[in-house]
Amino acid sequence: MNGLDTILTKQDLNGDDLVYLLGLQGMQKAQLFEHAASVKASEVGNVVYFRGLIEFSNICEKNCFYCGIRKDNKNFQRYNLSDESILAAAVFAHKNNFASIVLQGGELSSAMFTKRITQLLQKIHKATEGALRVTLSLGEQPKEVFQEWYDAGAHRYLLRVESSNPNLYRKIHPQNPKHRFENRLQSLNDLKDTGYQVGTGVMIGLPFQTPEDLANDILFMRDFGIDMVGMGPYIEHSDTQLYKYRGLLMPQEERFQLSLKMIALLRMVMPKINIASATALQAIDKLGREKALKVGANVIMPNITPGAHRDDYLLYENKPCTEDSADDCKNCLEVRVALSGNTIGYGSWGDSIHFQQRDK
Ligand code: SAM
Ligand code: SF4
Repeated sequence: MNGLDTILTKQDLNGDDLVYLLGLQGMQKAQLFEHAASVKASEVGNVVYFRGLIEFSNICEKNCFYCGIRKDNKNFQRYNLSDESILAAAVFAHKNNFASIVLQGGELSSAMFTKRITQLLQKIHKATEGALRVTLSLGEQPKEVFQEWYDAGAHRYLLRVESSNPNLYRKIHPQNPKHRFENRLQSLNDLKDTGYQVGTGVMIGLPFQTPEDLANDILFMRDFGIDMVGMGPYIEHSDTQLYKYRGLLMPQEERFQLSLKMIALLRMVMPKINIASATALQAIDKLGREKALKVGANVIMPNITPGAHRDDYLLYENKPCTEDSADDCKNCLEVRVALSGNTIGYGSWGDSIHFQQRDK
């Protein structure tokens, strides 16, 4: 048995193991991917669940240094889809047997926004006979707001921690009360207490990020007991503050490979969670999302945002599929999932097995 074989048989990987595995190249990297694929097959099966993604608004009160739709960027058009358009997208997901949708947008804090989402959840529930599982991804909110949305029918929430290293978190956010690492953690804890299936994630290949940071991100997710993860490569955007550090970045192909390794390792450390194959993977590699499904991911998010504004939700440059319709996106992903050797869990919620098994 060589060193890698020994590590792969360990029950509990520690930080040093993870850093070692993140550094693998060539045949050893292929061995790691094969191992993660077998863990996926035996623990969650080779089934991929669709989450219809509705990016319903790019209006945001925050100024994250990496994000193209941050508040102070004036170089693109803001939009906010009508309730009717959002409902039509939800009905499309329902009719096409996706069983789940994700409502994602900028972070807003007004009472009007809270109410709008509550009413929207109720309308979606009515229009689809309660058949859809709804995930929200609307940033940090007070616990009462999380509760109000949970009561209105949202039972999953995605809030990436972005980096579990507080120092790195500070470097990629403005220093003001709206962007505190502690608030991020508080929100994650509040979501768990409220009863949500909780999702988080990180950006991979950020400037100043080390392999130790990434290993700690995986341990953070394990120790928190996260149910779902969506993580992918950081991709620079020229209208953001982090762009000036682009000289520190590793080449995009390396960020991509590192992202695949993170997905494979997370599958090994948390075998029963749901892991999404992030769209950003495909911004770097045309077959990026299939590759992630092969090494451990089991969720994919077809973009079903009604067409006209897709170009305006540019978190990063070269975002793929902005010209596609919801139908195009569905058809394209069907082919991609088949190519990855998986089947699609049409009509099934595909709730996180980790969530179903954990103490509530
Ligand atoms: N506003 C909500 C929030 O921040 O949680 C949800 C929408 S936000 C656009 C969704 C995710 O996009 C963020 O959590 C972040 O990880 C990711 N993102 C933003 N800019 C990115 C970039 N330049 N490269 C890769 N991912 C990025
Ligand atoms: Fe707003 Fe989310 Fe972008 Fe931050 S990552 S600027 S909260 S949309």
